[in-house]
Amino acid sequence: MDRKRIGFMGLGIMGRAMAENVLQGGWPLTVYNRSRDKTVILAELGANVASTPKDLAQASDVVISMLTGPEAVYALLTGENGCARGLEAGKVFVNMSTVSPAYAREIASGLAPLGVTYLDAPVSGSKKPAEEGSLVILAGGPKETVEELTPLFLSMGKQVIHCGDVGQGSMAKMGINMLLGTMMEALGEMLSFGRAGGLSDDVLFEVLHASTLACGLFTLKEKMLREDYYPAQFPLKHMAKDLKYAVDTAYETGAAIPGAAAMQQLYTAAKAKDMGEMDFSAVAKVLLELSGSKSGC
Ligand code: NAP
Repeated sequence: MDRKRIGFMGLGIMGRAMAENVLQGGWPLTVYNRSRDKTVILAELGANVASTPKDLAQASDVVISMLTGPEAVYALLTGENGCARGLEAGKVFVNMSTVSPAYAREIASGLAPLGVTYLDAPVSGSKKPAEEGSLVILAGGPKETVEELTPLFLSMGKQVIHCGDVGQGSMAKMGINMLLGTMMEALGEMLSFGRAGGLSDDVLFEVLHASTLACGLFTLKEKMLREDYYPAQFPLKHMAKDLKYAVDTAYETGAAIPGAAAMQQLYTAAKAKDMGEMDFSAVAKVLLELSGSKSGC
């Protein structure tokens, strides 16, 4: 792939690290973020900073967005200074934010009359894999465009999986996050159950890690659960929205996902209890509080 000019919108927890890796991969980079202070570090590393999404799109061949969700993508795409005003035939718009498959297809059909190719390319992996460039990129859209952009994706990730047509990257992302949200809640239940019955956290985690259920997620979240301290890697508010998209999608497709529907309620309730900015593992905190146990032993 020749060195296309890349535009990157959204420098939050994930986007900042991903944009840094694009820059370090040698691509000419222009960045935009609603709160301009987050662009400073990228500018110091050599990125250009655009004043508007439109300017960013005009300066780029490929525009990537890594934003909270559909409302943010819509806000930066549309309007007088929106990104769509700077996109033209031959350019590619890659949305790496997590949105529903239906929304991915909606953006694709909105951009098609301009001759702009759309890919949905959400990621599996959180803050640390974003920093290390070891995300898994779940791409939906034309195969040849995915192949053409694979070197760019591999500056941010360790693997690119072409999931199918536009929307299927988001389908795969809904699937993996449903599993993630459910597993995290189940670990919270084990902790709540064990503590209420007098088991120490040492014993609980020793048993867990010795079992066939031992996995990277449980190892990663152990410290937060034991210390009842949840600095956000994957904010809980994002899990609540992703589960909503999964439930909405299942309604459209007819899939039976009763567990995920219950999880959507629980994560949404946790968000309402001001836990939205905490890591999603704080769902355990809700369960522990409900059972009258707050700290480890
Ligand atoms: P984040 O830290 O909350 O960053 C969100 C970004 O969106 C910021 O740049 C923010 O701009 C921008 N934004 C939000 N609302 C906006 C609006 N109305 N107009 C313009 N810009 C807006 O989120 P994140 O954790 O990086 O996640 C980004 C996406 O990746 C989400 O879709 C999330 O579900 C997904 N994801 C996250 C993780 C994770 O572990 N964190 C993992 C996989 C996928 P400001 O800086 O101005 O607020």
